[in-house]
Amino acid sequence: MSKQDLRTNIIYILMVIIVILLIVIKKIDDKNKPDVDTSEVPVEKVEEDDSDDQSPEISTPVYKGTIGLIIDDFGYRNDNISDGFLNLNAKLTYAVIPGHEHSKSFSEKAVDKNFEVIIHMPLENIFSTKGEEEFVLMTSMVSDTIQKRVNKAFNQIPVAIGMNNHQGSKGSADEHIMENIGKVIKEKSLFFVDSRTTVNTIAESTMEKMGIPTARRNVFLDNEADVSKITAQMILLSQVAEKKGFAIGIGHVKPITLEVLQKQIPVLEKKGFKFDFVSNLLH
Ligand SMILES: [Zn+2]
Repeated sequence: MSKQDLRTNIIYILMVIIVILLIVIKKIDDKNKPDVDTSEVPVEKVEEDDSDDQSPEISTPVYKGTIGLIIDDFGYRNDNISDGFLNLNAKLTYAVIPGHEHSKSFSEKAVDKNFEVIIHMPLENIFSTKGEEEFVLMTSMVSDTIQKRVNKAFNQIPVAIGMNNHQGSKGSADEHIMENIGKVIKEKSLFFVDSRTTVNTIAESTMEKMGIPTARRNVFLDNEADVSKITAQMILLSQVAEKKGFAIGIGHVKPITLEVLQKQIPVLEKKGFKFDFVSNLLH
């Protein structure tokens, strides 16, 4: 046998050994396969479950409560800030002070954009009461004057469907003023929301006594002009809504309040809160 033949024979033998080895390895592998398959089954199931979670039905947040939001002090402004409020995408209630340059035009624009409008009636304060001289209700006034002023406000802003009070630490604690406001509101079948600018307010209880639909403010949003504090007040408002079913907040037509609402309304909606007009939150 030549050296050449010997080498060729060794190569053949080696190849046969390799082929046998490959067959043995394949058999061992086949034996293991069922185990591998079963281990893959749960993984596939988990993937199917994940795809179910992403369906629109399951991603809809669970309802947590209703927030009624009143924005006070409209009437002075007709600028990018008041326009910004008109571009918010939620059922909000806008409270307009009568007697200002943009009171009537803003109210009409707000109703056109599907917001709810109420009169923001100036009432006497304990300390000083300035501005809105034609409309402010003073405790020294006779019944006729008070009722005429309330009527005049609704005549100027006929799209308004209710009222809350601007300031009024003295007026909202005064039976004479609140009963005369109540008489006009009742005649017109409207409602009154107590802004609660003083702990001595009798606005809500007077309306209840007279059988007029009413509600009270739970949280003031922007007593402090600070984004994190206003955001914290919005969260507090949502917590009250979650606990009681609904809650009413009051903010003001200010750039910083607009900035927080633009961010927080969609955030709270995603958490399961619904924004609704205060006219739907009365008792
Ligand atoms: Zn006000």
